[in-house]
Amino acid sequence: MYFVDGHCDTLTLAIGKGEDLLNHTGHLSIEKLASFKTAVQVFAIWLDDEQIKTAYEATIGFIDQAHKIFANNSNCIRLATSYSDIIQNIDAGVCTAILGAEGAEPIGSDLARLREFYNKGLRVLTFTWNRDNELSGCIATPNAGGLTQFGHEALAECERLGILVDVSHISVSGFNDVAQAATKPFFASHSNCKALASHKRNLEDAQIRIIAEAGGVVGVNFCDAFLSDSPGPDMNDVLRHIAHIINIGGVECAAFGGDLDGTASPVSGWYKDVLIYKSLYEHVEQVHGATTADKIFFQNYLRMFKEVF
Ligand SMILES: [Zn+2]
Repeated sequence: MYFVDGHCDTLTLAIGKGEDLLNHTGHLSIEKLASFKTAVQVFAIWLDDEQIKTAYEATIGFIDQAHKIFANNSNCIRLATSYSDIIQNIDAGVCTAILGAEGAEPIGSDLARLREFYNKGLRVLTFTWNRDNELSGCIATPNAGGLTQFGHEALAECERLGILVDVSHISVSGFNDVAQAATKPFFASHSNCKALASHKRNLEDAQIRIIAEAGGVVGVNFCDAFLSDSPGPDMNDVLRHIAHIINIGGVECAAFGGDLDGTASPVSGWYKDVLIYKSLYEHVEQVHGATTADKIFFQNYLRMFKEVF
């Protein structure tokens, strides 16, 4: 089996720690990913409070470093900027890295920068992190606004270029604005179901339905607080969220975005690293069957990538 995961923070974390991504000691490393042969991982560029002050320059720097890292490890992982790149990598038996930005601060209010990032390989844009920005308010801000005029322009430009829009972290009105204006699938890379865990980053059932109707996916986050309001959630809670997403949005919108290296390790210890996807697949297959498991683990993402990239 292999998998597609829509969100991890490994790239900027490893670079920040001065560690080699190849054998990074966190949740994910190229070596561990390569044990799946053809896994596809979206690597988000996330900026801390210091880096955000020079968000554009910091992001250019991270993208340049990412190109070097993946070029140096091209025997087992290669950057993809198109759907056919991903398929080529799968056929070649190597993993795929897709570059994303978590928060649109690097763009400021300049669409030329969005085009520049696209030309440098960026294919996923999470409109906001837990900060309001030039595009939209975020869910962390009480009564946050929705898409700005510039946010609408950025959405249209993302769709024109072929950058996948990510609504995880965005405000409720920002979500509704994206839903109304989008003409292509968009996704929630690392958000779960509010019906099962009340974390404000989780999605209402209506939001899950909207994403599904747009042809997008919801990537289940492995973070404790997103999985359950009770202490110490485990893999059973991941299965509950998957089942709920299938129930509400259909089997075509259930997916994963584990947020590896973006959150603390689980209290229950149900996963240590990305290798958990092996037993997770077995459990999902046991409950839903292989055809459905394959959709959840990779086909749903591939269908969406094909439509957007
Ligand atoms: Zn996040």
